[in-house]
Amino acid sequence: MPTQTVMLVKQIPQYLGSELAKRVYYVSPGIEEFRLISEGGRVVGVEVTTSTAVNGDELSRKLDVIITKDVLPQEQLETEILWKSPHAAQGDDGVFAKLTDADIVAEMGEGLYAVGGLFSQVMFGLDRRLHELAVQKFDADSFHYPTLISTETLQRAGYMSAFPQFLMTASRFHSDVDTYDSFTSGIASTDDIGKHIEDHSEHIGYCLPPAVCYHVYQHLSGSSLDKQSIAVTTRGKTFRFEARYRRSLERLWEFTMREVVFFGDRKSVVEQRRSMVSAVCDLVDELGLAGRLEVANDPFFFNEQIAGYMQVQRVMELKYELCLPVEAGRSVAAGSFNVHGDKFGSAFGISDADGRTAHTACVGFGLERFAYAVFCQHGADPGAWPDALKALVSSHGNGSAGEPM
Ligand code: AMP
Ligand code: ZN
Repeated sequence: MPTQTVMLVKQIPQYLGSELAKRVYYVSPGIEEFRLISEGGRVVGVEVTTSTAVNGDELSRKLDVIITKDVLPQEQLETEILWKSPHAAQGDDGVFAKLTDADIVAEMGEGLYAVGGLFSQVMFGLDRRLHELAVQKFDADSFHYPTLISTETLQRAGYMSAFPQFLMTASRFHSDVDTYDSFTSGIASTDDIGKHIEDHSEHIGYCLPPAVCYHVYQHLSGSSLDKQSIAVTTRGKTFRFEARYRRSLERLWEFTMREVVFFGDRKSVVEQRRSMVSAVCDLVDELGLAGRLEVANDPFFFNEQIAGYMQVQRVMELKYELCLPVEAGRSVAAGSFNVHGDKFGSAFGISDADGRTAHTACVGFGLERFAYAVFCQHGADPGAWPDALKALVSSHGNGSAGEPM
């Protein structure tokens, strides 16, 4: 595979290297591998390996676009840790292999995994606890939404312009008998079924959801709260195209998310996030997990204004992440706790009990990731698990038949 070194039009300080690295695979579809090149404390170039020959000037131009729009506007911010679990990080690095060898985790495609047995028991045991927490502590209404989300809802929520790199859309065939005829008769002779489908299909106004809170904003759009604050909880499949950044169960294209969404006046949603943070930190402690809560930001893309918003997110502490150690010294965010001001209340015409635009907060957990961190830290042998974890899986069936709401 061809490898070339692309020198950056604008060199960047070393501390922004990780921000550049998070975006390189989205620069061009042919990039298979890359390495940042540093000199004198600055990142000066990128060594890129591509599947086919890619024009170096084009790569340089595209890298410059993301550096100018998304990377350089960011300032250096210290990682702020708000809470640290009392448990020390432990575990072995071969857990992913053990889970696949035991066939309770099986790869189904890029960033796609089947999970079963003990793995799904942990996943849905965690989900059951989170669901109980939402219902018992916050009196949340529990809903099950369709997987497809309307494109209009995502557009209204501002998702399209903030995260185009993640978006996965749904299409279907043109509703036309000639289309079906031409499609079916061409199947045998085509050597590119993907292109053949694309030639006969269209976007139909629906996408695959990148989170499950957007369904909730749509559901409540145009309504007024009849009390100071309300909460809605839901669980569903979510999809984010993570390009080559996908990794084992840490970073998936399709995963399962439990969210709790809060609506109310500013003070109540901020208080509810605080209370949710405290309850989840207690759960992490109870399960004997190492972890920490950090101030974080979202990986916005392609928009100078939004790149500036990342700083705002961090400085105003709009997003916290629960980071749990997994393998090889890495940690992953198993959950995030976000306040949005009145952004979604305004976009979806939701008012609080006093008739003002409602404020919102959402708390989301990636269940595969959370469960994976549990296995990384406590191993795949339930005999050696702490009692609280044993209790988490013994309180229900195997997770496939009796999945809790
Ligand atoms: P976010 O809305 O980005 O804060 O994501 C909420 C949670 O979803 C994260 O804290 C993760 O636990 C989970 N998550 C996000 N992206 C992925 C992914 N690509 N693979 C697995 N879990 C993810
Ligand atoms: Zn959300």
